[in-house]
Amino acid sequence: MTINQVGVVGSGTMGGAIAHVAAISGYEVVLCDVDQAFLERAISRMEAFMNKSIEKGKMSSDQKADILNRITCTTNLQDFHQSQVVIEAIIEDLEAKKDIFKQLDEILPSNSIIASNTSSMSITDLAAVTNRPEQVAGMHFFNPPQIMKLVEVVRGYSTSDQTVEQLKDLSQKLGKEPIEVKKDTPGFIVNRIMIPQFIEAVRLVEEGVATPEDIDKAVTLGLNYPMGPFTLQDYAGVDIGLHVMDYFYDEFKDNRFAAPLTLRNLVRAGRVGKKAGAGWFDYNK
Ligand code: NAD
Repeated sequence: MTINQVGVVGSGTMGGAIAHVAAISGYEVVLCDVDQAFLERAISRMEAFMNKSIEKGKMSSDQKADILNRITCTTNLQDFHQSQVVIEAIIEDLEAKKDIFKQLDEILPSNSIIASNTSSMSITDLAAVTNRPEQVAGMHFFNPPQIMKLVEVVRGYSTSDQTVEQLKDLSQKLGKEPIEVKKDTPGFIVNRIMIPQFIEAVRLVEEGVATPEDIDKAVTLGLNYPMGPFTLQDYAGVDIGLHVMDYFYDEFKDNRFAAPLTLRNLVRAGRVGKKAGAGWFDYNK
């Protein structure tokens, strides 16, 4: 199957940027959200991103116009009827995602692939509501998708080899480095490694071993990570981190994934902002 048109459902932080990456890579893109205003916001973000590239001399105004011309915005899922691949990037809610997968299964051509950008949810659960489970897989991008190179291509229970190969090939054509997650496991690879690190970092604070600032310094300088666990949690949203821990704990029934009380209280206190410094570093101030 030749992929000419890529659909993206959800035009938020991830969906809008994935659509942008696909248009930059030369694909026709259909971008869908529930409200026109969300689509307009996504296009504005793309324009702001490209204006910086133009200022740096990395892109011309004509290239920007061509990229935007390749994107069709819609609030109607029926507009995916010619898409060979649709990537779902709506909110992290299993029932909402299942509803979208059911509808996409009815709308898309029979040989098209439905992929999810979910960070943690079961691909097998999503595939099970369709009549094409072999053509359903995870396609997990990292934030911000224009910059981050990795895509985790995730097999559900029934995902075919052909679907995995097509998504790996698409990822490469989008300028990404795909890796294959051979089994459908919560959090796939990166989040499975990252979440226990977050938990251990919070436990060190709870035990009075060090401050969040010093733990971040230790991890950036000692492990050569670009940012420490507390800065990263603040960047991604501490509420999202807690949600993923609770999900892992439910799935694995394993204390390795039990969320620390300090983190739960931080979220209860409403310190959930998505920008660095909104959560951890002023927790006790
Ligand atoms: P977001 O809240 O920024 O955007 C979600 C968008 O989906 C919103 O614009 C919303 O209006 C839209 N939406 C909701 N229901 C819809 C529906 N029925 N039809 C069409 N659009 C609908 O969320 P996000 O941060 O972009 O995350 C999206 C997905 O990507 C989630 O599954 C998340 O776990 C995953 N993810 C997020 C990140 C991240 O760092 N933000 C990284 C990797 C993966």
